[in-house]
Amino acid sequence: MVQKRIAKTKRRAPKPDNGAKSIFCDLLFCGDCHKKLRYHTNTINKDIHYFVCANNAVDYRGSCPGRHYIRADAVEHVVTLELRRMAEMLRRDEGAFAELLAQKSNKELLKDQKRCEAELQKAIARNETVANLCEKLYEDNATGKVSDEWFMQLSHKYETERMELKSKIAALQKKLAESGQQKQEWEGFIEAVRQFMRMEHLTAPLLRELIDHIDVFETEGKSKSRTQRILIYYRFVGYIEMPAAPPRESYRADTRKGVAVSYLTDRQTA
Ligand SMILES: [Zn+2]
Repeated sequence: MVQKRIAKTKRRAPKPDNGAKSIFCDLLFCGDCHKKLRYHTNTINKDIHYFVCANNAVDYRGSCPGRHYIRADAVEHVVTLELRRMAEMLRRDEGAFAELLAQKSNKELLKDQKRCEAELQKAIARNETVANLCEKLYEDNATGKVSDEWFMQLSHKYETERMELKSKIAALQKKLAESGQQKQEWEGFIEAVRQFMRMEHLTAPLLRELIDHIDVFETEGKSKSRTQRILIYYRFVGYIEMPAAPPRESYRADTRKGVAVSYLTDRQTA
């Protein structure tokens, strides 16, 4: 048992001979548990690089039931295809594309602002409650209802919470104040799509300009009809349906088990 554990730790140690990391590291997330996917290199065939959910039950004794295995080359292929569709949409009708981005980014922004506002109100309310509790604690201690020891413990606890709330409130207020200035940032996004059109290969900096994160779901189906869903969330605009873009090219690739998987990039409609 002990030996087994050591062996496992050894395997996880960084291996410098694996070469460069994937440009998709830090962008891929588990579609089910939302933990990051972890990058690996196949121990036998060093050319095969893949990702799995960092919280999966099989490799990490985590709580996520599926491994969410996906090969790095498949991710790159699928994302490149999607970006090409987007570039084609921009090329065909720039005005319509800009309009779509503006609508989406405003919607995302509004959603984000609402969430921040609600969180801020909650933090402010809690801050008031804690302030009242503190006041009551001082009174109770003064009248002897609460022992000095208990008073020390509780007041320390309240003080810590108030400090945390104070910084949380400040951070949320700052974020809300700044969110108004973000409005035009999707214009930079169009520039990044243009840059993609001029490039042969995807690069890490360009990916970061374009993509916020990618959700990878577990492979579904059996043998010949296996599918895996990959949802791309772009920066500022999130997931976008591209009705005016050319139809999706489906990409099929062999997985390490010798079974082909078709990759889906649209939101589940069933
Ligand atoms: Zn997971």
